[in-house]
Amino acid sequence: MNYKSLKYKIFIIFYIPAITLIYFSYSSLAHEYKQLRYSSAFKLSAHITSVLSELIHNVQIERGLSAGYIVIDEESLYKQKLIEQHKETDKAYNELLKIIKLKSVDKRKLETIIDYKAKPIVKQITKDLKELKAIRESVLNSSITFENEVNYYTDINRKLILIIKIFNNAFKDIEQGTQSIIKLQKIKEYAGLERAYIYNHLLDDTTNEKVLLQLKNFQDQQNELIEDFFAISPIELNKIYEYSYSLSVENKLNYCRKNISNLSLHNIQEAENCFNASTEYINIFAGISKEILNKYKENANIIYNNSLKSLYITFFLWFISIVALIFLTYILRKLISKEEKYIKELRIAGYAFNAQEAMVITDTGGNIIKVNQAFSDITEYSASEVIGQNPRILKSDKHDKDFYEYMWNEIVNIGSWKGEIYNKRKNGDTYPEILSITAIKNEDGVTTNYIGQFTDITLIKKAQEDALYQANHDFLTGLLNRKSLILKLQEEFIKAKRHNFLHAFLFIDIDDFKKVNDLYGHSVGDQLIIELSKRLKSILREDDVFARISGDEFGIMLLNFDKEKSEVAKCIKEICAKIIKSSSEAFIINTHSIEISLSMGIKLFPDNENNKDDVIIHADTAMYQAKSKGKNQFVFFDKKIEDELKQYILLEKEIKNALLNNDFKFYYQPKIDIATSKINGAEILIRWQHPEKGLLYPGSFIKVAQEIGVIPNITTLALHKACKFVKSSSDFFDGSLAINISSQELLQQNFENKIISIISGYKIDPSKIELEITENDIIKDFDLAIIKIKKLQEFGVMFSIDDFGTGYSSITYLQKLPVNTLKIDRCFFDDISLDSNRELIKMVINMAKTFNMNTISEGIENEDQLEFIKECGSDQYQGFLFSKAINENSFIEMLKEK
Ligand code: C2E
Ligand code: MG
Ligand code: MG
Repeated sequence: MNYKSLKYKIFIIFYIPAITLIYFSYSSLAHEYKQLRYSSAFKLSAHITSVLSELIHNVQIERGLSAGYIVIDEESLYKQKLIEQHKETDKAYNELLKIIKLKSVDKRKLETIIDYKAKPIVKQITKDLKELKAIRESVLNSSITFENEVNYYTDINRKLILIIKIFNNAFKDIEQGTQSIIKLQKIKEYAGLERAYIYNHLLDDTTNEKVLLQLKNFQDQQNELIEDFFAISPIELNKIYEYSYSLSVENKLNYCRKNISNLSLHNIQEAENCFNASTEYINIFAGISKEILNKYKENANIIYNNSLKSLYITFFLWFISIVALIFLTYILRKLISKEEKYIKELRIAGYAFNAQEAMVITDTGGNIIKVNQAFSDITEYSASEVIGQNPRILKSDKHDKDFYEYMWNEIVNIGSWKGEIYNKRKNGDTYPEILSITAIKNEDGVTTNYIGQFTDITLIKKAQEDALYQANHDFLTGLLNRKSLILKLQEEFIKAKRHNFLHAFLFIDIDDFKKVNDLYGHSVGDQLIIELSKRLKSILREDDVFARISGDEFGIMLLNFDKEKSEVAKCIKEICAKIIKSSSEAFIINTHSIEISLSMGIKLFPDNENNKDDVIIHADTAMYQAKSKGKNQFVFFDKKIEDELKQYILLEKEIKNALLNNDFKFYYQPKIDIATSKINGAEILIRWQHPEKGLLYPGSFIKVAQEIGVIPNITTLALHKACKFVKSSSDFFDGSLAINISSQELLQQNFENKIISIISGYKIDPSKIELEITENDIIKDFDLAIIKIKKLQEFGVMFSIDDFGTGYSSITYLQKLPVNTLKIDRCFFDDISLDSNRELIKMVINMAKTFNMNTISEGIENEDQLEFIKECGSDQYQGFLFSKAINENSFIEMLKEK
């Protein structure tokens, strides 16, 4: 249900009656309030009537006394009486004035009720009474006529009675006595007039017929009014009348009335008697009037009190209904906000239920009562297919009984369970999900339902597995990577120690793999790695661990040799031989036929000395040994090798430092022209001024320098030295300077450009520079070497083949070689007593001549040797006989001496 419509309904059901109730209770309150004002005005009216009545009474007496005084001779006694009455009248008048001046709430109430008709009359009366002083004066002076005097007072009374009439008419609906009061006032007035006329008449000394007629009229009026009084008054007032009425008083007055024309005039005593009889008679009506007014006031009080009571009750009811309405509003607001919250929660719950997470709700019997769309999406069961079924239909056979028992124990004891579980879709596929089951409990803590929420984590799992796979495998070959190899090794090391097994670790490195990359590019290199890994894998057993350590390095763990060490070694040798053989077959990649070889280091573990961290290091060390032994072989690790390797590593560091610190020096060994016996050149030979070991010869470091690839740096240094020397010694030296280069750099791409650029920089004759290269270096890539040598020769640089005779070059090669000089290796001169050596030397020299090359004999230490080479026709020689290699200064000195 829309809560807005709920609001409207609540409004219609509760508010309309509540507002109606408030409206009616309010109008009732207003009515009661009006009633109260009315009754309080009524009360005031009764009071005013009493005051007016008292005033009328006194005015009547004053009128009667004044009427007599005007015509009497004995003034003093009557004057006194009259003045006394003036005071009484003034007293009654002041009472009225008090009310007139009253600015009370009551007066305002009264004004609203009586329509203020009496206001102009009251004003008039006030004016008339102000004239009273003058009237009284003229009465006391007897300067006013009886008629005028009577008229004056009668007019005042007429007005006062009119006010009483106005006031009392306003309340005639609630008080019948009001009309009786008016009647009584009128009766009294006529009786008063009658008294005034009788008194005046009896005290006057003339008979006035008109007066007698008036008296008759007054009596008639009274009788008529008394009849009216009886006709309109309720019984209780009639009773008051009857009770108060005195027949004897009436008789006394009737005596006067009947005998008025017979009574002697100017008889003070008779006049007094009649005045008193008349007054007594008037007093009866004044008494009745007072009684009725008292009753009237009593009634007004009762009505007022009732009104007040009703007002209080109504106000209380009205107040209660307002408070109730406020309270109701508060309660309803609370209820509505609760309802709104509940509806909101329901809406959210609705959204949540239809969220991406699958949801299933069961009863305590495990029967499905509700599922959401995500449930159907994941399980492929529609809601109608599973409602009433047990979630067991999703159960896979991946978990045992214990698993489910544990799960339900948790739900029963803790109230929920969360975990990873494999379930089955409708099509039978199992899939992993994160499932949480919660027991829903009522207020008493009793389980009423179970709610299961789950998410299909197939993709997440797959991603995790992929990430794990990638973290542990080499991206190129799919083999284990270095990290997982180390982990595996640690595991196996511990196992082997525990079970007394022996494992072997093979560290494999492809020989000269850099060349493959340089020549064919990296993608071919990568392909080669992949192909090689496949071949090696095919040789290994399922249990063996095979990993790519880095670039061209592989690691193999051959596990669990339960044999004697020698037996194991034999076994491993067989495997290694297989590996070497399989890798030696050419790889055909992108139409390139590539031949490679492998160097392998083998470490058996665990052994007594080493811990697991050393296994790979030792195998690596052994692999280096295999490389240094000429590659394409395997070597078992031993301690000696390790020490050598340490030395090697140290040397490598020191050579690099020496280059930085400029510790390499160059010595000059003169070359002698045999024909002239003069120095016609020199070979520049490197020396290392070692900070601790002193001067070192190339034999102790040049090979390592070659292996660590710093020969090009040395060549650069040597060439600069040679160029500088040639340039600076032109005055005393005309020969050439030879530097040694290696194939490693000759075959490098920019080698010839580097040489040309350096020599060009010194602006010297390039033919003064000679490059020495051993014959074995040249034949490694003969064609390329020739191209480069030719280019340098074209520039002017001289070339010689060093250590000639120690290599494998054939005559065919020699024929094609574009070199200027052959340097016959020292070993041929070691023993020239041998005919074979002598013949060989001769042959080489002749052959050189045939190919138009010069010859220089190296290592000539004695005169015999010199003599022999002279015989043979060698062009130059170099050797200790003439001089060892000496430093630059010594060489300069030597040049200058000769
Ligand atoms: P190499 O180029 O054949 O140099 C001749 C070597 O024979 C020098 O040894 C020299 O001192 C030695 N020698 C000369 N005459 C005699 C002699 O009468 N008797 C004996 N026993 N030896 C003699 P060194 O200076 O020790 O150089 C050895 C090798 O080191 C050189 O053989 C050369 O291959 C290499 N080498 C020297 N300096 C450099 C260099 O700057 N660069 C390169 N790449 N290799 C160099
Ligand atoms: Mg040399
Ligand atoms: Mg040599």
